[in-house]
Amino acid sequence: MAILKIKEYGEPVLREKSLPVKEITPEILDFIRDMAETMYTDSGVGLAAPQVGALKRIIVIDGHEEGLIALINPKIVRREGEVVEEEGCLSFPDMYCKVKRSSKVTVEAINQQGEQIEITKEDLIARALQHEIDHLDGILFIDRIGKTKRQILLNKLKKQKT
Ligand SMILES: [Zn+2]
Repeated sequence: MAILKIKEYGEPVLREKSLPVKEITPEILDFIRDMAETMYTDSGVGLAAPQVGALKRIIVIDGHEEGLIALINPKIVRREGEVVEEEGCLSFPDMYCKVKRSSKVTVEAINQQGEQIEITKEDLIARALQHEIDHLDGILFIDRIGKTKRQILLNKLKKQKT
């Protein structure tokens, strides 16, 4: 197992679209284990493959009491409600902002056994699912907030880096 390097905002790979995984090979399963280890090491709630530089449609989420949720080719098929909560991202260290998301989502995906599954989640896990699936399309949480708020965040980020 290995801890992977997390790409931070500004790296072009975070803006690219990931490709579907066609076959679940031992390499893919190893990669999922590495992603999970990386997420837990950095105390993240979730991690998407492009955040470690791989343009594959794979996400991992810390499902708390139910353990690790690892999804291949996930797709949101149903949404319900709306809620605004504070959100962060491992690619934006120490930055948080309020983002509007659906409060409940149903996601279709393939699990590590290669089975087609459907899960319905609410609250924090629903938020993490939407955030991580966005990453697979090159969408970042700062794209989901107002222009002014985004500018403030990006300025803060610039100051951190200099
Ligand atoms: Zn993120």
